[in-house]
Amino acid sequence: MSEQDEAPKRRIVSLIVPFLNEQENLPLLYDRCNKVSQGLKEELEFVFIDDGSTDGSLPWVMQTAEKNPAVKYIQLSRNFGHQRAITAGMNLCNGDAAIIIDADLQDPPEVIADMIMKWKEGFEVVHAVRSSRKGESGLKKLLAHLFYRILSKMTEVQMTVDAGDFRLLDRKALNALNSMPEQHRYMRGLASWIGFNQTTVEYVRDARHAGVTKYPLIKSIGLALNAITSFSGTPLRLLFYLGTLLCLLSIGIGVYLFVAWNFVQRMSPSHAGTTYLTLAIFFVSGLQLFGMGILGQYLRRVFDEIKDRPLYLVSDSNL
Ligand code: UDP
Ligand code: MG
Repeated sequence: MSEQDEAPKRRIVSLIVPFLNEQENLPLLYDRCNKVSQGLKEELEFVFIDDGSTDGSLPWVMQTAEKNPAVKYIQLSRNFGHQRAITAGMNLCNGDAAIIIDADLQDPPEVIADMIMKWKEGFEVVHAVRSSRKGESGLKKLLAHLFYRILSKMTEVQMTVDAGDFRLLDRKALNALNSMPEQHRYMRGLASWIGFNQTTVEYVRDARHAGVTKYPLIKSIGLALNAITSFSGTPLRLLFYLGTLLCLLSIGIGVYLFVAWNFVQRMSPSHAGTTYLTLAIFFVSGLQLFGMGILGQYLRRVFDEIKDRPLYLVSDSNL
């Protein structure tokens, strides 16, 4: 009866798909998402972000965009990395909400419908939480499991454990995230940090449909370090405690030796002394290097922030 009923405007949900050489996966992802969209009242907008692909992915996206006006693309000028590609999509998309989804079909498109349901219930951030993961090495799974738990202990921000980048963000949350200028973007942390009404949906993470992972273990460890230094000062605090402990310990031992050698006469100037000394030097210089390494990580971030470079550069787009 109201005006709204007469002309219901369909709300737009942007699907943000960052991709790096995913030509075998994109067409299937597109088909599966379109199937899901048939059951939705909302309109889907595809936002494909080409993060420096060298295969047939971008030509496929461009052709599809010619046929379907709901397909948008952003070509970055080179490979800027997954997190920045997502940022580009979030900055430029038009949706009333956006869902970030990997191109390799590890995030099943069918979960989109569940996320949109939660959104309609009034939630502004919907994290998809992996109840189990298929097709990934035991080591990666174990490290991921430990990492999410250790990180959530180390930060003041309440972070959702086992959630990747597969999540729905309401326009409010998108605007909040878009207003954050930081260079090192750990989206999972930032999305928790902004607050709003948050919830989760569970899903089983599938194996990659085709192609190889662009996140080998070493890159995942980089992401983990980035997450820790972005969201936690705990390593710096630990360093301080460790340093203090070592100082107190060496003062204690010094006093003990002084008393023992001067008053109790138990001094035995044997070779053992040199060995202990050498060990102690190794130990302490190791600790110092470790400490400087940690400091360096934080300093590097300061350096990157003050340069204030753009997060990515767009070379072509139909948005
Ligand atoms: N990706 C990207 N830029 C990169 C690395 C990856 O856009 O530098 C994309 C990739 O194409 C995929 C998503 O990010 O759509 C997740 O990457 P991947 O599946 O390789 O990571 P994994 O799931 O193995 O952690
Ligand atoms: Mg993947």
